[in-house]
Amino acid sequence: MLYRPEYCIASVGAMIILLIMFFMKRNYALRSNRIFFVMLLDNLLASGLNIVTFYTISFPERFPLWFCYLSNQLYLFVYNFMAVLFLLYVDSKTKIGSVKKVITVIATLIVAFDAIIIFGTHQTHLVVYYDENLVYRHGPMMLALYVSAFLSVAIADVVFIAKYKMFNFYQVLSVNLFAGGVFAAVIFQMFFPRYAITNYACAMILFFVYVAFENQAYYLHGDTLCYNRRAFIKTINQKRFRKEEYLMAVIRLNSFENIRNSLGKMGVEDLVEKIAERISRAYGKGAYYVDLNCFTVIRQPSVDKEQLKKGIRECFLQTFQMEVGDDTISVEVEPIVTLVRVCGEHFDGAEMTDLLQKATTSFDDPTIELEDADDLVKPIRREKEVLGLIDRAIKHDGFMVWYQPIYDVKADAFTCSEALIRLKDDSQGYVGPEEFIPVAERNGRIRDIGDYVFRDVCRFIKTNKILSRGVHYIEINLSPEQCNRVELANQLIDIATEYGVDFRQINLEITETAEMQSCGMHNVNQLITDLHDKGVTFALDDFGSGFAAIDYLIKLPVDIVKIDKGILWQAMEDASSMKILKNTIHMIREVGKKIVVEGIETPEMAELLIENGCDYLQGYLYSRPLPEERYLLFLEERNKRRAAGKVAK
Ligand code: C2E
Ligand code: CA
Ligand code: CA
Repeated sequence: MLYRPEYCIASVGAMIILLIMFFMKRNYALRSNRIFFVMLLDNLLASGLNIVTFYTISFPERFPLWFCYLSNQLYLFVYNFMAVLFLLYVDSKTKIGSVKKVITVIATLIVAFDAIIIFGTHQTHLVVYYDENLVYRHGPMMLALYVSAFLSVAIADVVFIAKYKMFNFYQVLSVNLFAGGVFAAVIFQMFFPRYAITNYACAMILFFVYVAFENQAYYLHGDTLCYNRRAFIKTINQKRFRKEEYLMAVIRLNSFENIRNSLGKMGVEDLVEKIAERISRAYGKGAYYVDLNCFTVIRQPSVDKEQLKKGIRECFLQTFQMEVGDDTISVEVEPIVTLVRVCGEHFDGAEMTDLLQKATTSFDDPTIELEDADDLVKPIRREKEVLGLIDRAIKHDGFMVWYQPIYDVKADAFTCSEALIRLKDDSQGYVGPEEFIPVAERNGRIRDIGDYVFRDVCRFIKTNKILSRGVHYIEINLSPEQCNRVELANQLIDIATEYGVDFRQINLEITETAEMQSCGMHNVNQLITDLHDKGVTFALDDFGSGFAAIDYLIKLPVDIVKIDKGILWQAMEDASSMKILKNTIHMIREVGKKIVVEGIETPEMAELLIENGCDYLQGYLYSRPLPEERYLLFLEERNKRRAAGKVAK
């Protein structure tokens, strides 16, 4: 039978073109990328060897027998090796850690099995052989060779299916095409052995895989040769895996907001591409575009730091020529360069990107010479950890509400208290609200927490009939995030009604913040008006700690003002702060609001505040915040003391 080599010749051509394409774009070195390169070489070699075997099979008498055998053996081995490469490729793309070792072992066993039966076939005639008439024939183990290839492809498919959600439509299609297409080509060739189309089919499918997976544009920023964020994340992951230490120059643009305002969105994107181009020209594979206002250059830890900074600044010496309408304008950009030293094993790529986005304050400070990334990332890690605890607490009822008794000067009794949330952390005891409330606010969890506290306080008020214990109301903290919700008033009314709580037993504390100043004042005013109608009272918390205290006092119809503990503590330190405190108290009294002062730690503080006419005192002098049962005991004891004619304090 005369075999036809045309398809193999076409396959060789296709593989050469694909290899050229592969190298034309900047190559981003990943394990999968290297395996893909070997796949290209493998198919090129298989196609070439296949052409040789056409001649050794068709005209065996023209070659020495060992050559006929060797060319066939090499072809079969290289051809079957493609299936194993496919398995390794899929494994490196899916990255399922738990099966990694198993797959390496399976791949090694398959390669070893193939090698043994193929390279022994000259003696054993198990796979292929030439009979006494020099006719090329398949041996009994030929089928085993097919089975081993199908096994690799089948395992690869299972692994891929387990993770297929990670991939886009074309990627899923290309992997299925590889498995299905090569299978179909093999079957076709079994029936029509004259047409050796398998290598050609494989070449076509590799084109598809190239476009779907190995397109280097995935790793480049826009039309530049600068690596993008995806490449950055992978590089950092790789460095972590290899426990490499490295130096990273973080580059931000000075006055970025101004640049953005003057160039507009499109203009700034153009500018960023131009900068990316320059940095990548200077630093080649070490340059990354991470974010609109963040580039990085990754270097060995041993490089000359001054030289690195100088080199980066030089990229910005020439102005950037920008097209604006029909004009060309020159834009001057000044970089802020911060060097960060990283111990590779500690960071993964996502964390590092977070770090670069969040740690802006130190990166924007040009005086900082060298940062240790560990120090920068600690708060980010902690935030993640705390967020995890918050989520767990939301799901599994992990919060508690504690109560800090507040001393009512006129009544000489503890007629109210502040509800303060606590988050239990099994490993570290409690996480304080100072830490977790801001985390909850930043990450959209504060509403759940707010609802929880409000419900729990309502339950507490109702089940313990606090009025009968001498407690008139409980103060509940509202975060500014909650106050901005227009539906908050109705929600609180619904919950209080559900528990049958008298609205007068609730006092809501609101805090002055920048956000409220800019947009929420109207909403807060509405909230106060709606709930006042029902009997709920309001306190302005942390008075004097912010920047707009007086403005709030004028604009918000609150009933109580809580003077911040910082003001009191400062007043105990110096005379002018004392004057400010006294005048503040005087001013609040003049506008007819009740005054609570928090942070009372000593009898002198209490005395001073009572003398100056404060209505309520809250602080460690009287009691720390207490869990429910201990708070009830506290009340019981104080009530007994009162009954016995002693003072409550
Ligand atoms: P805050 O509203 O100013 O609460 C008063 C804080 O001062 C409480 O801290 C309290 O334990 C503390 N404190 C009271 N007296 C003294 C004293 O004499 N000395 C000292 N050193 N501290 C005193 P805590 O419980 O750690 O709460 C901190 C902050 O967390 C609160 O400050 C409030 O802003 C927030 N927070 C607490 N619970 C909630 C809540 O349920 N919702 C919201 N949105 N925020 C809450
Ligand atoms: Ca408060
Ligand atoms: Ca306060």
